[in-house]
Formats: sequence, structure tokens, C-alpha cells
Amino acid sequence: MSKPNEPDLRLRSVAQSTYECLRCAFCFDLSWLGPVNLCPSYAWGAFESYGARGRMTIARAILEGELAYDESLIPRVFACTECRACADHCFKYIDTNKVYTALRQDLAARGLIPPQLAAAVDGLAESHNLYGEPHANRQAWLKHRERLDKPARVAFFVGCTPAYVRRTMAGDAYAALEASGLDFTVLGDEWCCGHPFLAAGQRERAAEVMRHNVDTLTRLGVERVVFDCPGCMRAFREDAPEVLGEPLPFAAVHITEELARQVQEGRLRFDVFQSGVVVTYHDPCTLGRGLGVYDAPRAIIEAMPGMRLAEMPRHKRDAYCCGAGSFVRYDYPGLVEKTGVERFREIEATGAQVALTTCPACLTQFQHIHGKLQSRVQVMDLVALVNRIGRWR
Ligand code: SF4
Ligand code: SF4
Repeated sequence: MSKPNEPDLRLRSVAQSTYECLRCAFCFDLSWLGPVNLCPSYAWGAFESYGARGRMTIARAILEGELAYDESLIPRVFACTECRACADHCFKYIDTNKVYTALRQDLAARGLIPPQLAAAVDGLAESHNLYGEPHANRQAWLKHRERLDKPARVAFFVGCTPAYVRRTMAGDAYAALEASGLDFTVLGDEWCCGHPFLAAGQRERAAEVMRHNVDTLTRLGVERVVFDCPGCMRAFREDAPEVLGEPLPFAAVHITEELARQVQEGRLRFDVFQSGVVVTYHDPCTLGRGLGVYDAPRAIIEAMPGMRLAEMPRHKRDAYCCGAGSFVRYDYPGLVEKTGVERFREIEATGAQVALTTCPACLTQFQHIHGKLQSRVQVMDLVALVNRIGRWR
């Protein structure tokens, strides 16, 4: 057990935020609007210490020397999907995730990391991907190699999950960018974005991989990087400038932003009338609350003639997490399952035939829950749908 009031607490850098907490519980629920829970971690853990208010209390107690870091805090800190619902609904506008990041880093510095996550990120340091696959196979999904490491102003950053596990997602994003006529490059030596290291509280390891990727993209003359995975995009746009201490030399955009712009410019069109097709759209937490991208996916869906978008009651900034964020699947499968089933029931209640999303983690989670529930609702990547019915000019 660590000693109270240790001098090297990362938590000190966010002490003011912890003292700003009023204990109002707006971060837990919107019960003044109805019985609507916001926080998957609290819904699963069932104790206040699993929610934002409890974590603020824990942080303050550590800062004041009344509590020490020990094993009992591991699930209280790491069983959190980093969905940012608490931050977005905080009465005092506290950036709660900054406090959680500091708690994770303090725990990691004391060797207190959930065991499966610790093993996954140790493997990641060797193979540069979360799945323990050979690094040489990272771009094995690519049919043609001519874009690899080609100097270009635009790059497609693939990410570990599309590169190794959801290769059709990587192929769909690549095909959409190619069909749009963009001159773009793909990195032959792409490493994991660093997001898993940050989730495990390992800032120095995150800095090393971020430096590698940023330098490689810069050498190719890239001015805009297109991401399929919102987690990778956040690691670049939000985390890398802070971790590396410098602004990025390129813009970071999501593929739905790229495609929505093409729709707006009339370069991407949907000519076939989708008679009677009802879809719903799940906002990935990192893309929506994390990066503020709510309108681009909807603009693409709304450009599809005849398609009706049936929104879930909890959408945009109120969207409930799918349950797969922040790598909780390694150590807290019960949290993943409970949250996924709750969200999928909301999807089904819209009456939609198809649930669209645009994040590899959400897509993997929903396809798993779809199988578990034997649901009639199909799950689909929005970019795959664009490829199926879109026409570029
Ligand atoms: S980030 Fe999401 S899961 Fe974590 S405490 Fe906040 S609302 Fe709960
Ligand atoms: S909403 Fe913000 S201020 Fe209120 S209890 Fe939650 S973290 Fe504290």
C-alpha cells in the first residue's frame, strides 16, 4: 500500500477540478427528467465509488492524505468506459476524464493496473498492436500496395482493430476514399495510436508511439489525416498535443466528416430511393461527446433518399455508451455485457431495421450483442452502407 500524501501524485495537477465538485449528482442520472441513468460504470458497479461523484471524493481523499492508493481502487478507477457522459452533464463543467486520467497514471506508477489490461499493453509495446499479431501483417488487408508510404497531403490512419480484426471496415474506408478521387497515403509502419497506453495510465509509452506516428506522417508531407476509429482520432487530436507538448502539424478528421463534405459539395450522391427503410444511428461516445462529431454522420444518412432516421431517446450528447470503451472488456466483461444489452434494447425500440454506427469498438460490441439477443435488427458500419449505395462524380 502506498503512503498517503505522497509527493509525486499526478493528481495534484488536477486538484482544482476535484475541489470544484459540488456533489450534486448530475453526473449520475437525469432522474429529474425520468429514470435515465447516464453512467454505465455506476449502473454496473452499483456503488457511488464507481461514478464520477464518488471518484471525485476518492481523489480528494487521496490529495488530503485520508486515503492511499491500493488494489481496492483498481476497479473504481479502471471500470469506466471513458464515455464522457459525466463530463458532458457535470453541473460545474468539470473535465472529469482529466481527473480519471491522473488517477489511472498514479495507480499505474504503483503497479496497480487491471491484470488483463496490463498484459495487453505489455504485448502492445512489442507488436505495436493490441492483438499480439505480427507487426508485418498490419496492412495485410490491403489488396494493392501502391499507396503504402507514398508522399501525399492526405493519409488514412487505419488503427489496430480495423487492421487486424475488422478488416472489412479498413477496406470500406479505403474504398470510399479511393472512389472519392483523393490522393492519399497509408503508413507501412503504422503503430498503435497510443490510446490503450493512456487507458492503462502509461503516459511515457503513449508518448513514444505518438512520436513515431506523428514523425512518420510528417515525413510524408501529410496535411490531413482521415480516421475510421474515433479512439485513434482522439489520441491524435486531443491527447498527442498534450502528451508531446506541441501542436500537430496536420489536421485530424473523421471519415464521416470527409464524406459529409463530399455530400455537401455534390461529389457524393445517393440516387436509389430506399423505400421504407428505417435506420437508427448510435453516436460513438468518443466521436460524439469526445470530439463533437454529431452532424456529419446524420448529414450522410439524411442525404440517402427514402431512408428514415429514427433517433433513440438518448442520442447525440445524451447517447448511452455501447459498453466497449476504454478496453474494459479485458477485465470487466460484466460491465460490457450489461451496458451493451441496455443500449441494444434502445436500438430495437426505435423499430429500425438497421443500426448504423461508425466506430470499430461499437460495431464489434453491437454485432456480439446482436448475436446474443438473436435480434432482428441488422448492425452495419455507415461507411459500408455509403459504399453500397453511394455514387461519386
Ligand atoms: S466516463 Fe462514462 S462510465 Fe466513466 S464515470 Fe463518466 S459516465 Fe461513468
Ligand atoms: S455533476 Fe460534476 S459537480 Fe456534480 S457531483 Fe458530478 S462531478 Fe461533482
